[in-house]
Amino acid sequence: MTGSKRESEEPVAAPDPGNMLARAGVEWLAPSRERLSTMQTGQRLPHAMLLLGQPGAGQSELGHWLAALLLCDRKGESSCGECAGCRLFLAGTHPDCYRVGLVDDSAVIRVEQIRGLSESFSLKSYRGGSKVALVDPADAMNINSFNALLKTLEEPSANTYLILTASRSDRLPRTIVSRSARLRLPLPSTGEALAWLNGRREFAGWERLLVLANGAPFRALQYADAGLEEIDAKMQETLDSAEKGELNIITTALAWSRDQPETRLLWLESWLTGRLREAALSSDLVNNNRLPWLRVPARERMIRAGYRLLDALREARLLVSGALNTQLLIEGLLISLMALVGERTGKLRGSVD
Ligand SMILES: [Zn+2]
Repeated sequence: MTGSKRESEEPVAAPDPGNMLARAGVEWLAPSRERLSTMQTGQRLPHAMLLLGQPGAGQSELGHWLAALLLCDRKGESSCGECAGCRLFLAGTHPDCYRVGLVDDSAVIRVEQIRGLSESFSLKSYRGGSKVALVDPADAMNINSFNALLKTLEEPSANTYLILTASRSDRLPRTIVSRSARLRLPLPSTGEALAWLNGRREFAGWERLLVLANGAPFRALQYADAGLEEIDAKMQETLDSAEKGELNIITTALAWSRDQPETRLLWLESWLTGRLREAALSSDLVNNNRLPWLRVPARERMIRAGYRLLDALREARLLVSGALNTQLLIEGLLISLMALVGERTGKLRGSVD
């Protein structure tokens, strides 16, 4: 377990930049890479780029790829991997690269981290080239962090590039989004995704994990690393009981707190993300019998509650490895879950259509 390193004014080392660049090279991101590359060679790359994609679509990977491109001394279509700039980037020690991410057990990017970024941008470039900051994931900033970042966005210094990655644009203030150029990342087809995953390693469970990952291959890979497939069937059973209003919250919370709580919360996150996505995509909810609990007029309210629960799950997942009372934490989440899916029964009973 990590200690209590709370101060985060130091730049955070990128998570294995070489691995991120290799992953960014996947086929389905080729059009996105090309677009960024064309903008860069034409010197039309905006001061701030917002890379948006579903969790695990590759926005983090592409953010690293773009940072490397900007810091490469050879200025080609992608970073060369050999020049001094590239070597420093790959070592995670490039002095003109400032990375802000989640540190330790924090669920948010704190204002001190963004202040560090602003300070770094106010200094001259060490190597005489571009200065790059990567905020990954930008949707984990809190309100103070957003306000601090806004100043940097409003007064851009020359030759500085801010790269933001996010999966939830609804968590970003409009002031941030409007000042950034947005690039939305596509997802590969199921066939493409499975081919890529099978190329990583042979595994019979990829198809199901890809469904749980809502089609995002990097997310499916993360799920496999977490062992999500081992708890899949049991979790689905638990969900079914919750929907019938038959879930015993106390015993379930106790069982979960003792056995892979983090993975279980990750599973729930994935399940809820999928349901909320379906809700957002389905324009005709009245005909959607799979989501009766999201029927108009309850829809808006339930979607909001769903997103609140999603935030709570994410935060809880980062907390369960700590000293907190995990059982109590899970009980609270299950109560919210029951309120959300249990609504179905009430709605159906009171429904006239
Ligand atoms: Zn290079």
